[in-house]
Amino acid sequence: MIDLHTHTNESDGTCTPLELIDRALAMGLEALAISDHDTFAGYDQALGPAREYGLDLVCAIELSARLDSDGVKRRTVHLLGYFLHQPPSIEFRTWLQELQAARRERNVRLIAKLQSLGVEIELSEVERLGRTLTGRPHFARVLIQKGYAADWEEVFRKYLDDSAPGFVERESPDVANGIQRISAAGGLPVLAHPVRLGIRNRASEESLIGKLRDAGLRGIEVYHSDHSDSDQARYREIAKRFSLALTGGSDFHGDVKPGVALGTGVSGALRIPRSVLDELRKA
Ligand code: AMP
Ligand code: FE
Ligand code: FE
Ligand code: ZN
Repeated sequence: MIDLHTHTNESDGTCTPLELIDRALAMGLEALAISDHDTFAGYDQALGPAREYGLDLVCAIELSARLDSDGVKRRTVHLLGYFLHQPPSIEFRTWLQELQAARRERNVRLIAKLQSLGVEIELSEVERLGRTLTGRPHFARVLIQKGYAADWEEVFRKYLDDSAPGFVERESPDVANGIQRISAAGGLPVLAHPVRLGIRNRASEESLIGKLRDAGLRGIEVYHSDHSDSDQARYREIAKRFSLALTGGSDFHGDVKPGVALGTGVSGALRIPRSVLDELRKA
C-alpha cells in the first residue's frame, strides 16, 4: 500500500515531516509522497530521515490554479506535480517563492477585511500556525478558536469561502500555466481530486478533463478519500480514454481533518497498490 497525497505542517497539515515519516513506517506504507501546497519545505526535511529508514519518499507539490470556465462561476483547480526522476528545477522553486509572497500579500488584505467585519484578529496569530504557508485553513482555526464560528463548515460559510463576505482574491496561476510550470520543472502534472470540481454533468466533466489534457495534463488522481467507488471507476475510465496516468492518495492533513487517515483514507476504505507508483515511474 502507498499514499501519494499528504500534507505536513509546512503547509496546512498538522504533522511535522518527521512525524509523517514515522507514521508511514509504522503502518508499513511502501511509498509516501509529500505533496504540500506551494512548498517543498516538508519534503526537503523528510528526505534525509526517509533514506535513513528506508522509506520510498516521492517529491510532490500541490498548486491551486484558476479555471476560467466560460463565464461560469470562477473555479479553483488543484494540480499535483510529481517529481519522479529528477528534483524540481531552481526556477520552479523561485516561482514558488513568488506565489508565497502573493499569498502573504493576500493575507494582509484578508486580515484588514476581517477586521472591517468586526473580527478581532491579527496576522501574527495566524502566522504562528501557518508560518511561510499561511492560508485560509489557518485563519479558520484561529476564528474557530476565538469563537467566531463553531466549526469548519460555518467558518468558511460565514467568513472565508470564495462566496463569503470576508473573501479576498489571491493571485494564482491559470491552470494551463500551472500545468506548463510543473512540466517545465521536470514534474508530471496531475489533476487532483477531480470530484471536487463539482461538475455534475458527465459530458461537461469529460470535456473539461479533455481540455486539461490538451493543455499538457499527464495524470489524474483516481484514488482519493473524497471519491466513492463509482467516482473511482469513472475516473479510471476517463484516464483510459485520455491516456492519463493514474495516481492516488489520502490527502492526509493530520488533526485538522481527523476523518482522513494516512494511507487508508475515510473509514479505511482506501487501498492504493504499489503498482500505481511503478506505472507512474514508467510514464
Ligand atoms: P488558500 O490557499 O489560503 O486560499 O486556502 C485554500 C484552502 O482553504 C483550500 O485548499 C481548502 O483546504 C480550504 N477551503 C477553501 N474553501 C473552503 C470551504 N468552502 N470549505 C472548507 N475548506 C475550504
Ligand atoms: Fe490542504
Ligand atoms: Fe487539494
Ligand atoms: Zn491536498
